[in-house]
Amino acid sequence: METMEMPTEIASTIIESENGFLVCDDKSGSAEEVLQIDSVLQCQCFIAQVSSGDCEHVRAVLDYLSATPASADYPVMSQAEADSYLSRIAELDNTVVANEDSAEQQIDRIRLWLEMESVKLDKQRAYYLFALESWMHQQDLSTKTLVNGILKVRAQQPEITIKDEDAVLKDDRFVRIVPEKRAIDKAALRKYVVSTGEEIEGTEVILRRPKFTYKLSQASS
Ligand SMILES: [Zn+2]
Repeated sequence: METMEMPTEIASTIIESENGFLVCDDKSGSAEEVLQIDSVLQCQCFIAQVSSGDCEHVRAVLDYLSATPASADYPVMSQAEADSYLSRIAELDNTVVANEDSAEQQIDRIRLWLEMESVKLDKQRAYYLFALESWMHQQDLSTKTLVNGILKVRAQQPEITIKDEDAVLKDDRFVRIVPEKRAIDKAALRKYVVSTGEEIEGTEVILRRPKFTYKLSQASS
């Protein structure tokens, strides 16, 4: 945990994006997001919650903004910084995987417990159901209202499974003609729109910016 005594002394790196800022504690490597909504800075950290939005992260962003000229674009970073950002991504990815593994193990245990308990209870339930169903048949009842609920015995339609479709189709009484269905050829539509740039009536074309991807040199196990 950070100490509260000298909050402005903590060295931090600020990473800016369209949504806000990521304030990274250079010592611990922990990071906190400060959102910028209509030029208001919002931090989700505990201190911000209990001090009406005033926390070290917001102060760090304010310091950063006052030190950075408003006209400047995103600060140019060095290749070394870019590489260290990529290593931070690797750490984050590894942590996500470890969290998922840990959660999966817990979820598996909970599932097993739930399954075993449910099987036990379902078996008990089956005895009561069997007894009640037999009682309804013995009494020749189709509906019976009791204090705790209503019992019903209802005749059911037979279940029909088609084992040999061709054999059934030979009999015209059981054949119907399904009309040919008109459907959109999405591949043809995409090809036309991409090559002509035309927006066809009944469609909306949304341009998307180039997709940025990354691949880490060490594959996480
Ligand atoms: Zn904060």
